[in-house]
Amino acid sequence: MQWFEYEYKDFPEVIAKRNIGCCVGEHWHPYVHNMLCGMLYNKIYAQIVQIKEKFGELRVYYDNHSPEAEAYILDAAKACSQTCADCGSQEDVELYSSKNKGWVLPRCKACRT
Ligand SMILES: [Zn+2]
Repeated sequence: MQWFEYEYKDFPEVIAKRNIGCCVGEHWHPYVHNMLCGMLYNKIYAQIVQIKEKFGELRVYYDNHSPEAEAYILDAAKACSQTCADCGSQEDVELYSSKNKGWVLPRCKACRT
């Protein structure tokens, strides 16, 4: 997991009026970033308060609900669910946990060991 902060000045109204924390693996960050950029470009002011990984899924908490915002979030969550949290591969990815690897995350076949 990587802690990452998005700043209000970069995504005004897309995220809430303060900097928000985003705690997801490095291979998921591009999808989160794309989601925020897409929302900004299309003026979807979701006022996101938190972005994190929970039970192997991308979770986005936000205040200003709309079908448009939901569509962006679902797209990003889907992309993350198909991307290995360990290596970024998109081949044969499934939710997986083990004693060695800790909690459940999407992992490719090579990383499911
Ligand atoms: Zn992998």
